[in-house]
Amino acid sequence: MSAVTNGFEQQLSEPLFDRVLIIGMGLIGSSIARAVMMKRIAGTLIACDASEQVLDRGRALNIADEVTGDAATAAASADLIIFAVPVGANAGVARLVGPHVKPGAIVSDTGSVKAQVIAAIAPHLPTGVALVPAHPVAGTEYSGPDAGFATLFINRWCILTPPDGTDKTAIAKVQGFWEALGSNVEIMSAEHHDLVLAITSHVPHLIAYNIVGTADDLEAVTQSEVIKFSAGGFRDFTRIAASDPTMWRDVFLHNKTAVLEMLGRFTEDLIALQRKIRHGDGEGLFDLFTRTRAIRRSIIEQGQETAAPDFGRSKSHQK
Ligand code: NAP
Repeated sequence: MSAVTNGFEQQLSEPLFDRVLIIGMGLIGSSIARAVMMKRIAGTLIACDASEQVLDRGRALNIADEVTGDAATAAASADLIIFAVPVGANAGVARLVGPHVKPGAIVSDTGSVKAQVIAAIAPHLPTGVALVPAHPVAGTEYSGPDAGFATLFINRWCILTPPDGTDKTAIAKVQGFWEALGSNVEIMSAEHHDLVLAITSHVPHLIAYNIVGTADDLEAVTQSEVIKFSAGGFRDFTRIAASDPTMWRDVFLHNKTAVLEMLGRFTEDLIALQRKIRHGDGEGLFDLFTRTRAIRRSIIEQGQETAAPDFGRSKSHQK
């Protein structure tokens, strides 16, 4: 989808933070870094990663003013620290950098799950350090530092889930940061976030992983037929099912309760649909499909998807 980037490239008149540290230079971390550098949102941007290869790539791409493998030292001087690592890695990063974070600094993250990430990070932060968790609801099926791009967050939602009692100035600063990246910001509780995202993101990914896995296991239909006729709907599931295995393993392990609750509802509705097909209830099927079509229309109207047929794929690729 083409994002409206009018004026986005313009640098801020003055940086929002003096020193910003991003830990994890994958799709999300490197996209934030690119936007921060382009718009000069930080006086100095430091990027960090656990992998030597990723650090080398970050330097080659000029992803930040400084690129380092030493997160603890970098954390000591940072005003804003963003963890952009897989959900399951947050506790280890917090244990490593937490004791070094200076009073008055803000710690944030980008995790797709919030309640368990807060539980993993908060105990490691000294008093006087604000935790303002964030989830940019934007991404692609790619990962790593080469996959990032500065405009990823434009016109996308970023959800902040500050625990009760979080310093209001810190929340406003993180909100301003994401707005500078082009996002619309919404604030809600971590628990509510996890429930909403279970149905809008986590369960759909599980369904995609499942349907692609089922097709792969079929014996009556050959693999080449699955690939050849994929434009019949399967192809759109394969894009989601190509998402990073580490990231998604961690999402399901850390948002277990909400995912299981939504999966229960989904299974009940699927069985009801199965019954409609068995009993030839055409009216019931038609009513549901009419309702779901309206949901797609609202997503397009709100600028969260393209109205172009076949997700805007070029004509030569259309089914
Ligand atoms: P990614 O592309 O796989 O990048 C994660 C990076 O973190 C990798 O370079 C990884 O290095 C590094 N890393 C792992 N453990 C680390 C540690 N202990 N210390 C420092 N670096 C470490 O993942 P991503 O897609 O950017 O996702 C990052 C976070 O954003 C996740 O929490 C995810 O839930 C969230 N998120 C993702 C999306 C999406 O669509 N992808 C959207 C919104 C939010 P190695 O590769 O060497 O492990």
